[in-house]
Amino acid sequence: TMPDLADPALFSERAAIGGTWRASSNGETLNVDNPATGAVIGTIPACTAQDTRDAIAAAATTQAQWRRTPAAQRAEILTAWHGLMMRHADDLARIMTLEQGKPLAEAKGEVVYAASFLKWFAAEAERMEGETLAPAADRRILVMKEPVGVTAAITPWNFPLAMITRKCGPAIAAGCSMVIKPSELTPYSALALAVLAERAGLPPGLLSIVTGHAREIGPELTGNPIVRKLSFTGSTAVGALLMRQCADTIKRLSLELGGNAPLIVFDDADLDVAVAGTMASKFRNAGQTCVCANRAYVQDGIYDAFAARLAAEVAALTVGDGLAPGVQIGPLINDAAVAKVKAHVEDALAKGARIVGRPFAIDGRFVDPVVLADVTADMRIACEETFGPVLPLFRFTSEEAAVAQANATPFGLASYFFTRDLDRAWRVGAALDFGMVGLNTGTISTATAPFGGVKQSGLGREGGRVGIEEFLELKTLHVALA
Ligand code: ADP
Repeated sequence: TMPDLADPALFSERAAIGGTWRASSNGETLNVDNPATGAVIGTIPACTAQDTRDAIAAAATTQAQWRRTPAAQRAEILTAWHGLMMRHADDLARIMTLEQGKPLAEAKGEVVYAASFLKWFAAEAERMEGETLAPAADRRILVMKEPVGVTAAITPWNFPLAMITRKCGPAIAAGCSMVIKPSELTPYSALALAVLAERAGLPPGLLSIVTGHAREIGPELTGNPIVRKLSFTGSTAVGALLMRQCADTIKRLSLELGGNAPLIVFDDADLDVAVAGTMASKFRNAGQTCVCANRAYVQDGIYDAFAARLAAEVAALTVGDGLAPGVQIGPLINDAAVAKVKAHVEDALAKGARIVGRPFAIDGRFVDPVVLADVTADMRIACEETFGPVLPLFRFTSEEAAVAQANATPFGLASYFFTRDLDRAWRVGAALDFGMVGLNTGTISTATAPFGGVKQSGLGREGGRVGIEEFLELKTLHVALA
């Protein structure tokens, strides 16, 4: 079991299904390991399709009551849940680092970020306003908002808590229930969240955490007609598959998929700001976020200075076990992730790129961060998401060319650019074909703002005032006046 928690009850090796903590119906389990050491942390139930159906059935029963609870009461429970997350932040961070690998300080940051969605949507619960229309003297129309109903979520391993709260926060605020399949790589953060949900007073069965294999649980979540909506964060390939699987029952979908974020540094940028923003965007979570800068386009006049500054910053990063003090880059999530990063770097070097500063080195799942210069569009790293601590620097001359290259991708999640020219700021901000644009910043994730992509990066937005709309249906009541 999980050592060293102030509150050991936060570590559960049972799934939370329909208000009970249980093993899978066939007794099978899966191991979960610590990416830093390879040691097994514990097991989780390998839940079956039947277990998933049980969770969905309970979600339907509970939701019928929950939708009738006053918004203020829903808000109160979400607020209490937020408070519990904050109170147990150290334990939640520790669980996250053990199963996911990110440095403890980053894990703590994610706990606070994840909790912020519960607080944000607690407030939104009380602001679900409709409309009244009067198209004719004898006619009134009420446009009312109602919860979608039973919803499902499938979430990834890179943000084991935040990718869940930004789905279940608005769902629960709206009056929906939710069945969640967390990543099998990071289930303990999700289960800890469910322990706290119970303590906060969430009705049993409103939120289930079904752990195990995607191939067992996924088809039930997408095929079951009781589930009215699926919210997914993960790869574009899996998102497309889930979209097809949801077609037969016409489910609503929110998809937050892959990105291939460009970052443009213009000659007129503030070098300090550009370097700091690039480091924040690129190396968070060892480069394993869907909004991490994947491609840096740097203008001729600033290229060498920028490369030198970045090389120095990257050389100073400490790589190691996320639990060790001072570590900034933890292990990658698994061997496949390491192999992909290695392949991208080797491909780039074979095609003429060169390493600037810190040499490239791999030790098990620990990958030293690396800056590549002279990167060109024919390299794999130019068009594929690397999801690791590699920063490729492309050189450009004209603004038009930089924007064209930045947009030359089927993805459209995040983008960043650095400039001090006001005209250029507006022009490039408008021209970048992405759901999110950071101007002179490398950080764009906050509960306050809508988060999501265009093109093959997904459908819908999470967070912001619109985040709750994803879990609401409109009903119009047409009233004939006498
Ligand atoms: P990543 O590349 O970030 O691991 P994935 O899309 O593979 O992204 O995984 C994101 C989530 O989707 C995880 O919870 C994973 O278990 C789940 N998943 C993967 N394949 C399927 C599938 N075929 N059906 C349902 N869920 C899946």
